[in-house]
Parts: sequence; structure tokens; C-alpha cells
Amino acid sequence: MSLPDLWFDPSLCLINGEWRAPASGDTIDLVNPSDGSTLCAIARGTKADMDEAVVAAQAARAGVWGRTTALERGRILTRLGQLVLENVETLTLLEALDVGKPLTQARNDVIAFARYMEFYGGAADKVHGETIPYMDGYTVYTIREAFGVTGHIVPWNYPMQIIGRSVGAALTMGNACVLKPAEEACLTALAFADLAKQAGLPDGALNVVPGLGAEAGAALAEHPGIQHMSFTGSVATGSLIQAATAKNVVPVTLELGGKSPQLVFDDADIDAALPFLVNAGIQNAGQTCSASSRILVQRGVYDQVVSRMSERYAALRSGPATDNLELGPLISARQKALVNGFIEKGTDLELAATGTIVDHAPVTGAYVAPTLFANVSPDHALAQDEIFGPVQVVIPFDTEEDALAIANGTDYGLVASVWSRDGGRQMRLARDLSAGQVFLNNYGAGGGVELPFGGTGKSGHGREKGFEALFHFSQLKTVAAHHG
Ligand code: NAD
Repeated sequence: MSLPDLWFDPSLCLINGEWRAPASGDTIDLVNPSDGSTLCAIARGTKADMDEAVVAAQAARAGVWGRTTALERGRILTRLGQLVLENVETLTLLEALDVGKPLTQARNDVIAFARYMEFYGGAADKVHGETIPYMDGYTVYTIREAFGVTGHIVPWNYPMQIIGRSVGAALTMGNACVLKPAEEACLTALAFADLAKQAGLPDGALNVVPGLGAEAGAALAEHPGIQHMSFTGSVATGSLIQAATAKNVVPVTLELGGKSPQLVFDDADIDAALPFLVNAGIQNAGQTCSASSRILVQRGVYDQVVSRMSERYAALRSGPATDNLELGPLISARQKALVNGFIEKGTDLELAATGTIVDHAPVTGAYVAPTLFANVSPDHALAQDEIFGPVQVVIPFDTEEDALAIANGTDYGLVASVWSRDGGRQMRLARDLSAGQVFLNNYGAGGGVELPFGGTGKSGHGREKGFEALFHFSQLKTVAAHHG
């Protein structure tokens, strides 16, 4: 399926409120993962474009945007959310064609983006400092200030949601943003930037420069003109970004991968758990940092859970995004090869079930059938490494202590969930699990926009989403006045 008519030219960058050709004059082909066809050309931005984008952002901070009140910033974001909802059908189609997401999932992401704008739009004028009791004759207070220019490097798996949570929060606090979307999927980033202009965002407050990671991305990460960097993506790239920003002593938020477990105890409500156990692994074809790729099951219900998860797997279908099945393709042929490489590492494992790739799925698409392995040892590569595809492993355990040790036994710590009716156990595990988010008798891949989100260990550091993100995208100034 080809792209709908666009109201912007996707081969351009948005810098200082103008659509401009990249300095290199080069473009990158954007591929439709459902069939391997070329959707359109996008700009191949480089350091020269990043330099211009950072200068535009600095000028916005020094000019109109820097003087825009919190109330007005909130109104602009709220208007942007409304514009996104008015364009929900087009944005859904763009995200589906670009990322390969089934339409329902793409639509959820567009609506989540609008929800971020509503949430942050309403919060903009509710972040304030404090007065601090101090010595006699002093009045001391704090002011929450924008950092200045913030950099945002986002991946291809949830463009709308990740832009919403990072750029949305940064703009709320008055930062001027430079965004580098992923080269595999950047149409909604460009569409939203144009809608932000329409919503009244002043020129230069948001600049978007598409391009390759090693070119445009690296140029942004090491740019001396930014004061904060937000990155979502792989551990390897996150570590490069942290090294690059360290040279300029720039704080960085890293949202990296995960190997998030769900712990199912003998006393769990299995009927309630089942949809979460499977959906949290196969949502967005498993390409979710907070995917639940490890299912830990106590022996008393182990056979039942494996057999009922297998039944669900057998009914799962992968097909073109516009077919709106349970799974679409992976983002690229490269990602497909990577995930198939992991599945091959499981030849020694018990293959519990697979889903199907529909017959009419083009062979040129990046399809991988969802795959469930059972009875997997916690130290197996498939139980340790982030796969980023529709593959889950089931691991049996005996006691609560064992479950905790297995759950905490990876390099990651993003999300975890506990399925049990025992309140004491819920509280103990919520306290002891290494994770930025713990769900009790439910699972949310990050949850709603209100819930702070971020990792421990190699899942990264810093928190985005929720009100907490507003503290994260601002810095505190303390003013001590001596008046006698
Ligand atoms: P990546 O981390 O390389 O890319 C993410 C973003 O970083 C993209 O915008 C990319 O252009 C940019 N980037 C790449 N190299 C850069 C560099 N040197 N400097 C600055 N920016 C750079 O991820 P990928 O190659 O797209 O995917 C590889 C693996 O990463 C996946 O298999 C998956 O395991 C993981 N991943 C995780 C997430 C997540 O949400 N945590 C998202 C995407 C990918």
C-alpha cells in the first residue's frame, strides 16, 4: 500500500520553523516493512543541519519561546493534542505503513501521543518551586527552570509515544528541542512537527533533523550547544551517547532495553493473567523495550500456564500492518535476521508453540512467526538477552525466593509483574524486584502517560512520563535573599 497524500514534504528537515533540504542534498529510502517497498525518501541530515538546528533552538530560547508563559506553553500543547486527534486516521496509517504496526496498535500510539499533550498541556503551569526555612533574616526559594536546548534521539519502535513523552515533557518546561528520529521510521515525527507549527509553537522551539545514527545522531549527541540529552534505543548506542554527552558534561536520560519478567504463582488468577502474559510479549511484534519476554511460573500451575499460553500462540497471526492482525512484520530485514538468529539459538529448547505468518504476507516483508519456548533455564541466552522480536520463554520455579533470584538475574531492570493473591508477597516483591515499574496482577508495557517510567541497570537511568518527567526536563535554582 502506498502513502496517502502528505501535507508536508518528507524529504526535508524542519529547522527554525522552515522546511529545508538537508545540507548534503542526500536522502535515505524509507522502507515499508510489510512488503519491502520504498515508501518515500527522507532527508539525510548531517552535522551541518544539526548545527543550524541547535542555533535555531538557542535563538528560540533567547526569543519568543523563552518568554512564553507556562500557561501559554500548556495551551499550545493542548492545541497540538487536539490537532493530532483531528488527524488520527492519517497519522495511524503513516505509523502503520512506516513501522509495520497493525492498525489498532498504531492508532493506540497516536491516541497516546494526544494524551501526552493533554497531560503535559494541563501540567505546564502547575510545576513550581518551594520556599525553604533558613537562617534568621533570609528568604530562600527555588525556581524550576528549563535546561535550554534539549536533544532527543528516538528509535523506530514507538515513534509517536516516545516523542510524546520526551519532547512533550521538554517543551512543557520551556526547553527548545532538536529531534533526531530513527532512519527506519520518521514520518509521524515530521507530521507532528508540522502540526506543532499549526498549533502555534514558535519557530525554532522544535527542530527535526532526520538522518543516520552515526551521522545526524552522533552530531547531536556530541553537540556543545545542547544542555540535556534524551535517548531511547539499544544499550550499545546508549553507552556511546552517554560517552559523547559526558565530554560536554551534559546530563542524559537513557531508556534502553529490557528482559522484563512476569511472575506467576500457584495462587494466581490464571484466567486474568493469560491475556497479559501473551500480549505483553507480542505487542508491536515484541519490539518493545518493556516487552515481557520472560514468564516465570511456579510448578503447581506450570503445565496449565504453558498449555494455555500455547493455545493462544497457535491462534496468533502475523501479516501486513493494514490487515490489522495480532502481529505485523518486524521493522526491517535486518531485525528479522537478528531475531531469527536468536530463534536458532533455541534449537536445544522445548518449542511449546508458534503462531503463523498468513499465506498472503509478501515474502519481501520482514515477518517472523511468534515463538514460545518452555522449560528454559534462566541462564540460557534466550532468557538473558533482549531479543526484540515476538519470542517468549517460560521458566519454571519452586519458591518465591527462587522467583525473585531469577527475575533479578539479568543485566536489565525495566518492568516486572507479579500474579498472586497473596498481599504480603505482592508487597515483598514490589519492594525487592529490580525494575523501574512493578505491576501487581496486571502488566503495562510502560503503562499510561501518568506513570513515571525508566530503568535500573542496563535498562538505563532517568525517568520519563508522568509528572516526574517535568522535574527531569528542568533544573532547580536556589535563591537565597538576605534582607535582615
Ligand atoms: P539504535 O539504538 O542503534 O538506534 C536508536 C536511535 O539511535 C536511532 O534514531 C538511531 O539513528 C540512533 N543512533 C544510532 N547510532 C547512533 C550513534 N552512534 N549516535 C547517535 N545516535 C545513534 O537501535 P537499532 O539499531 O535501531 O536497533 C538495534 C537494537 O536496539 C534492537 O534490536 C533492540 O534490541 C534495541 N532497541 C531498543 C529500543 C528501546 O526502545 N529500548 C528501541 C529500538 C531498538
